[in-house]
Amino acid sequence: MSEPLIVGDAGSKGRGVFAAQAISAGSLVAKIGGRLCHTADIPDGYDAVQVGDDDWLCSDGTRIDDLINHSCDANVGFLTGEPELYAIRNIAAGEEICWDYSTSINETGWRMECECGSHKCRSAVLPFSELSPVDQERLLPITLRYLRDSVITLTSKSPTSRTKPAAC
Ligand SMILES: [Zn+2]
Repeated sequence: MSEPLIVGDAGSKGRGVFAAQAISAGSLVAKIGGRLCHTADIPDGYDAVQVGDDDWLCSDGTRIDDLINHSCDANVGFLTGEPELYAIRNIAAGEEICWDYSTSINETGWRMECECGSHKCRSAVLPFSELSPVDQERLLPITLRYLRDSVITLTSKSPTSRTKPAAC
């Protein structure tokens, strides 16, 4: 079961989502919902979270998960690789819930200026593949599965792993 959340004022970020009570690390906090669309079919004005190379979860903005802001020092992430946000540390009652948008998006050219205020702030939020190798490695345990698979494909050097038997 998801944890109780409340919508509130997040200052310069506009609205945000906050923990209604303390949340323990590892708890399911929110599921990213919406209609599955291909990149070319995202309706105008919709919020869209990328979940595959050409797959997005699109929402008209009325879901609570649409209001969860980005932070470069997130307290929730995609621990299982599914589009479900889990607490990655203990979260206090009243604390803002934030995930790292670079753990879902990989659309070339996408960029968001960030003023999250964290000492880890990257100042520009970028597609996962454009992050530094250090950031990619750090974020890998909380990225969506399609991004993990892309990294494994790129970095797999062992000829004995993930290769199909030769057809002879
Ligand atoms: Zn930031």
